[in-house]
Amino acid sequence: MITLKFGGTSVANAQNIELVLEIITKKASDNNLVVIISAFSGVTDMLITASNTASNKDESYKNLLAEIKQKHIDVIYNLIENQKQNQLYNFLDIQINQLQTLLDGCFLLGELSARTADTIASFGELLSSQIVAAAVKQNIPNTNFKDSREIIKTNSNFGKASVNFNITNSNIQFFLEKNTFNVVVVPGFIASDEEGNTTTLGRGGSDYTAAIIANGTASKSLEIWTDVNGMFTANPKIVKEAQSIQSISYQEAMELSHFGAKVLYPPTIQPVLQAQIPIWIKNTFNPDALGTYISNKNLVSSNPIRGISHIDKITLLTIEGSGMIGVSGSSKRIFEVLSQQNINVIFITQASSEHSICIGIQNQVAAIAKKAIEFEFEIEIFQNKINPCIVENDLCIVALVGENMKNHQGLSGKMFSTLGKNNVNIRAIAQGASERNISVVINEKDVKKALNTLHERFFEENTKQLNLFVMGVGNVGEKFIEQIYQQKKFLKENLKINLRVIALSNSRKMVFDEDGINFKDSKIRLDNGENASISKFISKVQELNLRNSIFVDITANYDVASIYDQFLKLSIAVVTCNKIACSSKFENYKYLKSLSRKFNAPFLFETNVGAGLPIIDTLKHLIHSGDKVHKINAVLSGSLNFIFNNFSETYNFHDVVKEAGVQGFTEPDPKIDLSGVDVARKILILIRESGYEMEIEQIENHCFLPKECMETNNNEDFFKSLIKNATHFEQLLSEAKSKDARLKFVASFDKGKASVGLRFIPKESPFYNLEGKDNIVEFFTDRYTDQPLIIKGAGAGAAVTASGIFADVIRVGNV
Ligand code: ADP
Ligand code: ASP
Ligand code: MG
Repeated sequence: MITLKFGGTSVANAQNIELVLEIITKKASDNNLVVIISAFSGVTDMLITASNTASNKDESYKNLLAEIKQKHIDVIYNLIENQKQNQLYNFLDIQINQLQTLLDGCFLLGELSARTADTIASFGELLSSQIVAAAVKQNIPNTNFKDSREIIKTNSNFGKASVNFNITNSNIQFFLEKNTFNVVVVPGFIASDEEGNTTTLGRGGSDYTAAIIANGTASKSLEIWTDVNGMFTANPKIVKEAQSIQSISYQEAMELSHFGAKVLYPPTIQPVLQAQIPIWIKNTFNPDALGTYISNKNLVSSNPIRGISHIDKITLLTIEGSGMIGVSGSSKRIFEVLSQQNINVIFITQASSEHSICIGIQNQVAAIAKKAIEFEFEIEIFQNKINPCIVENDLCIVALVGENMKNHQGLSGKMFSTLGKNNVNIRAIAQGASERNISVVINEKDVKKALNTLHERFFEENTKQLNLFVMGVGNVGEKFIEQIYQQKKFLKENLKINLRVIALSNSRKMVFDEDGINFKDSKIRLDNGENASISKFISKVQELNLRNSIFVDITANYDVASIYDQFLKLSIAVVTCNKIACSSKFENYKYLKSLSRKFNAPFLFETNVGAGLPIIDTLKHLIHSGDKVHKINAVLSGSLNFIFNNFSETYNFHDVVKEAGVQGFTEPDPKIDLSGVDVARKILILIRESGYEMEIEQIENHCFLPKECMETNNNEDFFKSLIKNATHFEQLLSEAKSKDARLKFVASFDKGKASVGLRFIPKESPFYNLEGKDNIVEFFTDRYTDQPLIIKGAGAGAAVTASGIFADVIRVGNV
């Protein structure tokens, strides 16, 4: 004998039931079967809603009833041979009439007893199993229907009745002895009490029915057929990377299901565990997939964690006060009072001081629990020995489960640090004495992030998904996105980094997609996106609450530079090529760095100086390894270098500046480059990164622009002023010629003082031959004394800047 159970989706419609029939027919050829059938998908929910609406004097239950009826008519029509349909339609009519009578009664009385609720809920399985039985009979004539209410006996705890195994097992024995059928179809979920009233075994209880029958019939195995390829390492609907678990112990499966893995109703394991009947969890829609094998085998696995599960809608009740210390029996009183109220305690922690006890229960019973506990401790609360219960709603329990966890140290540490890095606040922690489970209570809004990040940490061989929120999609931004998509495959295969662009925004529009935005349609999607708003952008990032989030600023905007703190405080990394933040007040720079440390969120800005050249990173390594910078000489403006390298008697100053802009070498506002402000910001950042405190005003700026150019207010006027002042620039050029020198805009720092300005560079200087848009930096340090450490290369341009930003993003991934 084999016991099979088919869940709601497996029997959702005629098409799905055809698949069920195929499976049954195949199995029945060499085995006798008991087949447990759930209600058609959604029907139990509809029945419960109908009974509630009816008892609330709301007539909409009638529509639900009609919908339920139609659902079953459709299946009969599409599944059953013509000549046998009438018999089932008659049966359906009778059942629906009975159901209607019950619902009308609820409506008239405005009342719903637990007993009636169970009777109403039982119709889902009663109808589905009869229809499936008729369908099986078409293929296998030697098929019978058996009403589970005649064999499974329970107490009268309606809604979730307890099974009397003595009576149930002997009923099953009696039935078996007489059974001559190849296939017996049985409704799941329902049973009856001693008086013969219909009871139910709890939501999802058809699994349990199957286990009870498998045990009673001493089945070779119990097969639970559902809509996924077995029990997964985490809920596959929430964690896309979750994998089907091939083999798992009863205890582990029990633990995972207790902590929310809905694929198996928690009590299911108990009956088969005693009889050591193995369970298979299989996919009706992919029967060839292996599925999950649950048994008592001692499984060897390199991963001590078998799965992660979670329960949502949890409330934490904390009872504390001096009156708890050393007073024996407080916990007993709490649990007794909760048990009297039929409240299931899911989670308990108690500090060793006994000063407080914290319990996790379902949201829906929180108010009753609080009232009951406060009533029980009324006197102590009145005497201020115990405080009124503290109630925290909308929490969630996340549990790591694995038999082998006890043999591995540091797992809880890994769990907490992984959650901490992603700004998931842990409200309470519990570890079972069996060490088969570590559970934490977190905010419900963090659950998706927590499950995914834990799954990544424990199951995905250190693969990391990085979620990028990109602001600024100009020249550099576009190149950056392009580079990401070019490298995506390489990063995944070689660095195990999975990059996804979740948001794009320019100054006009923004677009978000939790599943990632494709490069190909990114432009169109952005153009059709919603209107850009910095505050909305922040709220959306916060709302999505994705793990390993990185905010990427590719603007030169002041407002954007002033929101980094908001991201860092959420443990979201910030990567930026925008120099404004790091060259703002020293206090702000320091504040951002301290936030980065405090919230474990990288704050990287390599491209602030020298575009993609590894200048800041090199400096960081020098400082971290104990070196000290004394002096810096540098040409830090790719744009100014381009301009002065090309400016000649035949190529006038205005035209060269224009061309530099066209080629993307200048800031959007070229005056920022030409006035020396941009270079001043860069040297300031290098000085600060070298460990010195300095403000931008302390940098001497020997500006070469005439006053008139400096006083313009927009790009157009600025360019006009360059034409007007052409002779000024020509004079600078001829003076350089006469000195046999070249014009370079140089930044320097020495003995605590910094300056920027245009200089006549003689032939012997290493700066003389600086080509095109190249940058050069010389660091004189404790270790590099006679010869400086020199970094030289292209220091401007969209592609190199983009690759610098990219490198920072990868650095975040490697943290
Ligand atoms: P059925 O109707 O067949 O009884 P359920 O909906 O009760 O199916 O259970 C299957 C569902 O359980 C899956 O579709 C999946 O969404 C959910 N689920 C939650 N956690 C897990 C897990 N760890 N492994 C597999 N499925 C899970
Ligand atoms: N139909 C019941 C429910 O939806 C039982 C089950 O499907 O397992 O809860
Ligand atoms: Mg189920």
